[in-house]
Amino acid sequence: MIQSLVFIVLLAAGAGLFARQVVRIRRNIFLGRPLDRTDRPADRWKTMARVALGQSKMVSRPVAGFFHILIYVGFVLINIEVLEIVIDGIFGTHRIFKPLLGDFYNVVIGFFEVLGVGVLLACVVFLWRRNVQPLARFKSPEMTGWPTLDANLILIIEIVLMSALLLMNAAEANMPDKGGYLVSNMLAPIFAGVSPEGLHLIERVCWWLHIVGILAFLNYLPYSKHFHIIMAFPNTWYAQLEPAGQLSNMESVKKEVALMMDPNANPYAAPADGAEAPGRFGAKDVQDLPWKSLLDAYSCTECGRCTSVCPANTTGKLLSPRKIMMDTRDRLAEVGANIDKNGSFVDDGKSLLGDYITAEEIQACTTCNACVEACPVLINPVSIITELRRYQAMEASQVPSEWGLMFGNIENNGAPWQFPAADRFAWADNLTVNSKKNEA
Ligand code: SF4
Ligand code: SF4
Repeated sequence: MIQSLVFIVLLAAGAGLFARQVVRIRRNIFLGRPLDRTDRPADRWKTMARVALGQSKMVSRPVAGFFHILIYVGFVLINIEVLEIVIDGIFGTHRIFKPLLGDFYNVVIGFFEVLGVGVLLACVVFLWRRNVQPLARFKSPEMTGWPTLDANLILIIEIVLMSALLLMNAAEANMPDKGGYLVSNMLAPIFAGVSPEGLHLIERVCWWLHIVGILAFLNYLPYSKHFHIIMAFPNTWYAQLEPAGQLSNMESVKKEVALMMDPNANPYAAPADGAEAPGRFGAKDVQDLPWKSLLDAYSCTECGRCTSVCPANTTGKLLSPRKIMMDTRDRLAEVGANIDKNGSFVDDGKSLLGDYITAEEIQACTTCNACVEACPVLINPVSIITELRRYQAMEASQVPSEWGLMFGNIENNGAPWQFPAADRFAWADNLTVNSKKNEA
């Protein structure tokens, strides 16, 4: 009875705290500018099924892809067992599904145990790749400190959870009235010779460790890059379906141009009553970005695949698309904390551009979209970079002098060069072009 009460209190607290954090994150995401991403729902469901559920982009790097899928499938399926643990915890029962499912129960739990071993193995491999094998993408400057600790903590927590599950079953395998399953029968000799009271104690400790660990893990997720296990699903559903390089038009600029082209328009007319004040050109802070970019930030797995294919990064420039996503998330969390503290956002004198991301970083981007192509959860760092650049160019007028020259040329000549369009072929004036057409 007391155990059930303790369990119910822990469960309610764990679920309640998690729900509160999810509500806050949702509010933070919708601090961004509106953007309609509800078109072509059938294509969106397909994309989500293929990329988030089917992990289709993970396998482009087969080793990481294989072990990631192992962890993903194992973790999701094994957590079905949590349903039984929750029911047992609430009602004080023990393995409530066992009498209902009979021999099939033994097969299912045995299968979960095999998956548990797979998850353990994958976690060890990932720990090795992050800490022992010198993988460049895990050693970038933005990975020092918390991001590396976070990644290691996640793997260690998963190892603890899986070990608790297997050891719990192994203790039961030594109990004549209970018995083990596929893997736990093999592990049973670990506890050979332990008294029945000792076995019961081990089984209970592992049971509590497993469920309390899951509740703690659930509440750790929103503070960790591991939140992607949830966010990958909405993020792929709302992903850009148009080609990656397609830039969005700025409505305010489009309106200005349309006005200039309209012979009947009066450029001096006062704005209509209730007309919306023109918004900011581009983005200086997270609130200026479309909400999808903020969802992207919460979905980033910090895997570094984007940075590893970024031509700017690989040629030694300061830009790292992974850092762009991490900075956006950090700034958004800071803005969210500001709102939690003050009721509404109070200017803290900081902004995403300048305090987190520097002009040098965004100016290094070639907009090649290799990062977008590489991302396993369809994140688009380039959309953030272009919005920051738009602000820099159109509001702050802080572009490198070479860009200013190019903008002037585009404005005056319709091309980035210093020559009028009529002189486009002047370079060939004194050349003798020897072609069959000329000969004819
Ligand atoms: S689009 Fe920019 S950030 Fe992305 S890979 Fe290309 S250069 Fe790097
Ligand atoms: S943006 Fe995508 S590819 Fe880059 S680190 Fe995040 S999840 Fe990985």
